[in-house]
Amino acid sequence: MNSDSKEQYLIEKEPYYKEVHDEISLYEAAYAARLPMMVKGPTGCGKSRFVEYMAWRLKRPLITVACNEDMTASDLVGRFLLDKDGTKWQDGPLTTAARIGAICYLDEIVEARQDTTVVIHPLTDHRRTLPLDKKGELIQAHPDFQLVISFNPGYQSSMKDLKQSTKQRFGALDFSYPERTIEVEIVAHESGVSEDMAEKLVSIAERSRNLKGHGLDEGLSTRMLIYAGALIQKGVAPIAACSMALVRPITDDPDMRDALDAAVGTFF
Ligand code: ADP
Repeated sequence: MNSDSKEQYLIEKEPYYKEVHDEISLYEAAYAARLPMMVKGPTGCGKSRFVEYMAWRLKRPLITVACNEDMTASDLVGRFLLDKDGTKWQDGPLTTAARIGAICYLDEIVEARQDTTVVIHPLTDHRRTLPLDKKGELIQAHPDFQLVISFNPGYQSSMKDLKQSTKQRFGALDFSYPERTIEVEIVAHESGVSEDMAEKLVSIAERSRNLKGHGLDEGLSTRMLIYAGALIQKGVAPIAACSMALVRPITDDPDMRDALDAAVGTFF
């Protein structure tokens, strides 16, 4: 990635983003202060879309990394690769972002191993540095660089939590499913269904969200509603679309499926 230019990471077209509270101005202030940010909330509620939108709005390149449990520090920072002329260093996405002054978005950071999260520490305090130990180089982050991580607090119980020493380096914005009228507008916009149809889908989701902790780990997300709407737009009957995009993916428990199917049945 050494030849990476900033332009390739710029977002040209404005991403559709509907503000839910006052997160846009708060994020702008955080970026102006170059405060590392954590966006917290359940999956599929708009965190990634928000970060894309902010990168576009601030005219900053965006480099996104989907974290997973096999990810090593080298995957973020970079490594030596063998080629015909010998070994050659290749920057990882975090290094590229620090060099070019991008917003680096580490999605689902808790998925990464703890030794991986430690490499971000010197980038998130006054030092704003990134040591490339294997290469013997210390990078001073570009003045425009900012680190953003996403985090789903709902998974905390399953031993997935961030260490305090990591958490306390970030400002945080809480995300949740948007309030009803906004969510209806988002589902209609993103899937193409009518507001009427979107309202029904949101109502089903609201019922499922009341089941969180009573048999469901998470309620139906905005993303799932958009999938259901997209199927309906393709001509799938609403009950079948809801079964396929909402009920079947979220639970294998027969009683829970019955309860959700019944909720679908009240609207279709
Ligand atoms: P997360 O990163 O929280 O898992 P995403 O950002 O991928 O979730 O959101 C899932 C989808 O929901 C997005 O692709 C987008 O279509 C839609 N969405 C959710 N919230 C919003 C919002 N406030 N404005 C516009 N679209 C949204």
